[in-house]
Amino acid sequence: MSFDSLGLVPTLLSAVQKAGFTDPTSVQAAAIPKALAGHDLMVSSQTGSGKTAAFMLPALNRISQMPPNKGSGVQVLVLTPTRELAMQVADATKLYGAHIKDLRIATVVGGMPYGAQLKALSRRVDVLVATPGRLIDHLQAKRVNLSTVHTLVLDEADRMLDMGFIEDIEHIVSRTPESRQTLLFSATLDGSIARLAAKMMRDPQQIEI
Ligand code: AMP
Repeated sequence: MSFDSLGLVPTLLSAVQKAGFTDPTSVQAAAIPKALAGHDLMVSSQTGSGKTAAFMLPALNRISQMPPNKGSGVQVLVLTPTRELAMQVADATKLYGAHIKDLRIATVVGGMPYGAQLKALSRRVDVLVATPGRLIDHLQAKRVNLSTVHTLVLDEADRMLDMGFIEDIEHIVSRTPESRQTLLFSATLDGSIARLAAKMMRDPQQIEI
C-alpha cells in the first residue's frame, strides 16, 4: 500500500513525501480511505502508530477541497486530553498542511496565558486544537464559534474520559453541527467510550489495528 492510492490530494502527498514518509502505517492505511469517504470512525490506536496523520490528512483533505468562500470559520476541531498532546498535534498539522495556502492553526490549552489565544481566536482559524476545559472558557465568553466545524476529532478519548472531561466534551460537541464527521481515537473502544460514541457518532465504523 502506498500513500498515492489512499485518495489524498497532491498538496498533501507532497507534504507527506517531504516529511520522509514512504508508506502509510497500518492505522493510516485503514482509516484514511474510510475517513475520506465520509464515515464516522472509532479507531483503537496507540501513541506512535501514526494516528495523528490518520485523522489530520483526511481533515486537511476536506479543507483543501472547500470552495474559497466556505472557509470562514473553524473547520476542524481536535480535542486532546493534554497541552503537550495538543502542541504535538498542532506541530504535525503544520507539517502535513505545509502546502495548503494560508492554513491557519490555533491551539487553545489550559495552563497557558490567555493573550496569545485571544489573539489567535480574533483572526480566522481553520484548524483548532484544544483541551476541553480551556475551550469551554472561550466558548462561554463567546470568543469561538463552532457552528462551521465539518470534522471533529476526539484524540485519546479514553484519557479525556479518565480525566473527567465527559461533560465538557458533551457541551463542546453540542455546539458543533450535527452534520459533522466525527473521528474518535482511543486505546480502548469498549465501555464508556462505546457509550460516548453511541451518543455522538452516526453509524461509526470500527477500526482495530
Ligand atoms: P503519532 O502516532 O501520530 O504520534 O506518530 C508517531 C510518529 O510517527 C511521528 O513522529 C510521525 O512523524 C511518524 N509517522 C507518522 N506516519 C508515518 C509514516 N507513514 N511513516 C513514517 N513515520 C510516520
